Amino acid sequence: MQPESWISLFLFGLLAAVGGLAWLHEYRVRKIQSAPAHDRVFRCRECQAVYTDDPGVERSRCPQCGVTNQPFDF
Ligand SMILES: [Zn+2]
Repeated sequence: MQPESWISLFLFGLLAAVGGLAWLHEYRVRKIQSAPAHDRVFRCRECQAVYTDDPGVERSRCPQCGVTNQPFDF
C-alpha cells in the first residue's frame, strides 16, 4: 500500500469517528427531547374528567368540580 492510501484511510476513519460521535450526540439529544417529563394523568372520581398536573404532585384537584383525586395509572 502507498502512504497516500494510509493517509486517506486514516482521514476516512477520523471522519467516520467524528460523524459517528456527532450522530450519537444528535441521537441522545433527540431521545431527551422526545421523552419529556410526562405530566401525571388524573381521572376525576366524581365527573370522570381526565386532566393532567405536574409530575411531582401526589393529589390534584379536578378543574371541573374541585374534587381531589389520586393519580390515574394506565
Ligand atoms: Zn371532577
